[in-house]
Amino acid sequence: MKYIVSYQNPNNHYIDIEFIIDKIKSETIEVQLPAWRPGRYELGNFAKNVQKWEAFNNKGSILPFKKITKDLWEVETKGASQVHIKYNYFANEINAGSSYLDDKQLYINGVNCFLYLPTRQNEACELELKIPSTYEVASGLKQTSKHNFIAKDFHGLVDSPFIASNSLQHFTFDENKVKFNLWFNGESKPDWKKLETDFRKFIKNQIEAFGDFPVDEYHFLFQILPYRTYHGVEHYNSTVISLGPSYDIMRTDGWYNELLGVSSHELYHTWNVKQIRPIEMHPYDYSKENYTVMGYLDEGVTTYYGDKFLLTSKVFDWEQYTKTFNQLLDRHYNNFGVNNYSVAQSSFDTWLDGYVKGAPGRKGSIYTEGALIAFMTDVFILKNTQNKKSLNDVMKTLYQDFAKKGLGVSDADYKTVIENISRAAYDEIYNNFIHGKKDYTAHLKEALNYIGCDLEIKPTKNFNESNLGFKVRYENGACLVDNIFPTSLAEQNGLAINDEIIAINGIKIINDLELWSEYYKEEEITCSIKRELGTITRITFKIDKNAVGFSDYKIIKQNETDNYKHWLTI
Ligand SMILES: [Zn+2]
Repeated sequence: MKYIVSYQNPNNHYIDIEFIIDKIKSETIEVQLPAWRPGRYELGNFAKNVQKWEAFNNKGSILPFKKITKDLWEVETKGASQVHIKYNYFANEINAGSSYLDDKQLYINGVNCFLYLPTRQNEACELELKIPSTYEVASGLKQTSKHNFIAKDFHGLVDSPFIASNSLQHFTFDENKVKFNLWFNGESKPDWKKLETDFRKFIKNQIEAFGDFPVDEYHFLFQILPYRTYHGVEHYNSTVISLGPSYDIMRTDGWYNELLGVSSHELYHTWNVKQIRPIEMHPYDYSKENYTVMGYLDEGVTTYYGDKFLLTSKVFDWEQYTKTFNQLLDRHYNNFGVNNYSVAQSSFDTWLDGYVKGAPGRKGSIYTEGALIAFMTDVFILKNTQNKKSLNDVMKTLYQDFAKKGLGVSDADYKTVIENISRAAYDEIYNNFIHGKKDYTAHLKEALNYIGCDLEIKPTKNFNESNLGFKVRYENGACLVDNIFPTSLAEQNGLAINDEIIAINGIKIINDLELWSEYYKEEEITCSIKRELGTITRITFKIDKNAVGFSDYKIIKQNETDNYKHWLTI
């Protein structure tokens, strides 16, 4: 299998791809373009970016073909043993999982745009890039000669995104005998010393926790963008992280903690999901949905440990760590979908609406729910083993006894391994919180108490949230209802999500609804509202000191107990 990538006019964003298939013996071949990309468990429908598609034999004669599905083609080989498919791909999206071309860079996630033969995915793939000679290539792919690469199979090819450009900034260091590469693309001023100091700490900590690193070289590919963005995607021996704005990413009081947070998270994925993988995705089937209930493991445990390793490696202090934990609490308690769908059901349904807000109150987040459940599981194991074992021992076992033996992990395997290590029944968490949707506040409090912390719950300081029961967001100058607390005054009085609040007691709102609602909190409050359909209405809230509403959730450390120290040693 060979892929040749070139382009004519970089600013029209079309990449030309030639896919050469050898050793054909059949009368027809089926050629597939992936429908989704690992890391984002929803359909990407990448074929919508294909404009031209043609098939030829090795003498250049056209071969007939037809489309069988939206992204599957059938070519009549007419006796040819070699087929060339020439097609193009509109690469005009830039995030951590997309492809993009302009006159400054060629950035490809092969899973977006490389065709494959479903029956021959395990054959080696060559890749040739016809790009300016001054371009360097940042990638985990194995280079054979300048701008030529090889992957051991299709999975390896599409699990190795690359950025080709003449303005890449590059820095390397060795940690635990693994070579780490930091690549920065786009307007940015990386502080290598600061990055190296912090990265070494969490990298070392993670490798020591697992015992070894699955690959011998690793690449962090940073796509730095001028606008606010935050996104990371994990790969076999690399990650792409898009972050911005440029001026903020190295600022400790800016976006730098986010850079560390996403980097630690993506590194952890090198074990958890790139090696330890839900059995339903072992191997990946790129042509259709790969349903699994195990998002609580691949994203939940990764979210938990991505942050925890920053604390245990002393990159983050307690205060910085609790910000990430409190954010999880905030997301859990403000998402009423957790009462409707378990995290397992939410995982199954990522294919429908896992990455958008979706219908209000429908589902939970595999990241948030999974991470809080991972924390409770970690403490569950500590508690049942007198602090001798932790969730890390479970992850190590999944790595040694499953991943390294080429086995996927099932939902039942995860429970069994936890029970073997903790020597206790895991049913409560498993039945009630992973597969059930019971409120876990009491259990969470207990787990926090075990490590010397408390869960502090206080009504939020904004009157509209704590008493009237609605939160707002501001969009292009409009004040929109963002969330409504169940059974609150807002719900009882018929306020709706996405209602625009124009005025309070006749005064126009200009990014200051919270201040006006506080100002009028001893009086009746009448909101003038513009509905989504454009109609105008009014809602009056009568004073009710006992009304229910939103709270703030924080963890507070009371004392540094022995248990806390054990929890901290991973
Ligand atoms: Zn992740």
